[in-house]
Amino acid sequence: MRPLDEYRRKRDFTRSPEPAGTSTSATARRQPQPLSFCVQKHLASHLHYDLRLEHHGVLLSWAIPKGPSLDPATKRLAMHVEDHPIEYGTFEGVIPEGYGAGIVMLWDAGTWTPEVSDVDAALAKGDLKFRLDGHKLKGSWVLVRTRGYGGQRGGESRSWLLIKHRDEWSGERDITALAPLSVKSESDFAEILASDNPDVWRSGQTGSGGPVSGGETGKLLRTILDQAADLKAARESQHPTRRASAPRETATPPPAGARGRAARKTAAKTRPR
Ligand code: MN
Repeated sequence: MRPLDEYRRKRDFTRSPEPAGTSTSATARRQPQPLSFCVQKHLASHLHYDLRLEHHGVLLSWAIPKGPSLDPATKRLAMHVEDHPIEYGTFEGVIPEGYGAGIVMLWDAGTWTPEVSDVDAALAKGDLKFRLDGHKLKGSWVLVRTRGYGGQRGGESRSWLLIKHRDEWSGERDITALAPLSVKSESDFAEILASDNPDVWRSGQTGSGGPVSGGETGKLLRTILDQAADLKAARESQHPTRRASAPRETATPPPAGARGRAARKTAAKTRPR
């Protein structure tokens, strides 16, 4: 299997804004320095955080349901998922339908340094120590494979734990709550959705294609959809001649005037800063 086969098999790039990725074969063996890493906050069927580490021309990826913790006593489940293309490291936006449908925020980005001499051997062993130098995550960390669920056909488990090592960057502060916004756009989910197409899941929220309809995540998504609609209405009433430039724009612009002003007031109040 070539490096990005699984990634590409799961996605339809005529319908998803995610990068298809360029061929990695030519440059894959030349490790550039420093290596990049990112964490994407992804509101899909469940809210989770995707940690991605550049390695041999792709991004090794783990989905972390609760997100990273700076507390060395808190081990966070990290499901090893398919490698992603390098270009994914700067991606932020809305996946309207299909695999991973939802909103992707670039939550952290920077460089990483392995604390082992052989990353492939560390991955095979299930014990990868490394340093992160991001905006939010720094210092020494370890990913340890567990004998959890997710093993395929008797193969090795896909479940790992992400653990912060004790150092000057560890602590008890809840980094996901303290620093919830994008490092790329400083936006929250509602603002990312509002700059794309806030009506993307309006017509068929409980039908196919949309990310979620029920439970806590469904409730969160509905709040975000409402905030995004308010933000968009507010923007359009502030700039009545400037149309939103999102290419997939299909929404009918709301009437300017009283409704716009009301929406702007609501948006200002509900904007979670
Ligand atoms: Mn994800």
